[in-house]
Amino acid sequence: MSGLEDLYREIILDHYRNPRNRGELASPPAVRSEGFNPLCGDEVVVYLDLDGDGDRIADVKVSGQGCSISQSSASMMSSAVKGASLAEARALTRAFKALMSIHESRLDGDGDGSGTDTPSPDPEVSLGDLAALQGVVKFPVRIKCATLSWNTLAAGLDDAEATASA
Ligand code: ZN
Repeated sequence: MSGLEDLYREIILDHYRNPRNRGELASPPAVRSEGFNPLCGDEVVVYLDLDGDGDRIADVKVSGQGCSISQSSASMMSSAVKGASLAEARALTRAFKALMSIHESRLDGDGDGSGTDTPSPDPEVSLGDLAALQGVVKFPVRIKCATLSWNTLAAGLDDAEATASA
């Protein structure tokens, strides 16, 4: 497993050093949402530009500051949802949070020998680089770092949908 963990660490560091979709969008028209993780001091601001029909994320930008987990997770999130429909973005959010919560319980008490297969979050959803963050669940205090950008995205999607249907 150490080879895989090295690879995951490389992916996380790459997103931290070269964050994707870093910046801001004029708001309005972009929807701006802000998330804060007081446990670690992480801050993430997500800007969402929806397409004309309001059902697809035409552009996304992320700003903020914090630890490598929170900022690399935000970078991965932005890559994953850019160009996605709102439904796809919601599905990714659920899949990522399932990855975080499933492993949280499964990895607790490492090596119980139960032989139970670890359930996969959702075979329909490909997490790509996000899978690199699954090692985070071994450190429960960092889970909030990893999920911060996704919670902020979810708040932004709620705002965007409320605005679109208003
Ligand atoms: Zn953090």
